[in-house]
Amino acid sequence: MVPGYLVEVPRFVQQHSLAAWPAMEWRPRAVVAHVAGFGKPVVIGQFRTTELATIWKRVAERSPRNEHRVVAWQAVHGCLPVRDLFYRRRLAQVRTCPREGCGAEETVSHVLWDCGYARRVRTLVMGVFGKFVSVGDVTKDFVVYGLLARNYGVVDGACGWVLACCLKVALWRARNLWVAKRVALSDQEGRALMMGLVREYVGSDRRRWGEPYVQRTWKGLG
Ligand SMILES: [Zn+2]
Repeated sequence: MVPGYLVEVPRFVQQHSLAAWPAMEWRPRAVVAHVAGFGKPVVIGQFRTTELATIWKRVAERSPRNEHRVVAWQAVHGCLPVRDLFYRRRLAQVRTCPREGCGAEETVSHVLWDCGYARRVRTLVMGVFGKFVSVGDVTKDFVVYGLLARNYGVVDGACGWVLACCLKVALWRARNLWVAKRVALSDQEGRALMMGLVREYVGSDRRRWGEPYVQRTWKGLG
């Protein structure tokens, strides 16, 4: 018969990530200090570790298609090739948003959230978001980083995140059309671009899972 406390030891070691500790570090005081701090959220950048876990989980989710996941990943890393990124590396002369009359610094969150164009397109698609998440939860943290203020069901949460990815990709494509070709999409065209991307998801789910699934999951979209 093994004493109960000996059974608890391996569990304790695993729970507190102590398995990789070198033997030299196993001093009572060090262990107590480690355990006391374990699991407490650490702030990295603007986010706590608990939030970072959610952010990376979202980026790694398989539901958005590859291009969308790449944009999501770049958004989280702040490395979408916006002017501010180039300017800070002395690769661009200006860091301002190329949209006429905007003039703000073109950062990742500017393109995807703060810019007037992003704001207007977002307003047009709020009703679509509202089918899956609360409109109040469609925040910058959600659209750019995938952080929702509250938990939603698996399906609604996943659809909400796919919508956020479609919005980001649409805004990024619209921005690039303007920068590269001077093609200015109207607000409605920006909305149409996003909804076209959403319909691709709906269409592929319809082919794969059938109409009843699509009706249940996508709530009349596409
Ligand atoms: Zn702007």
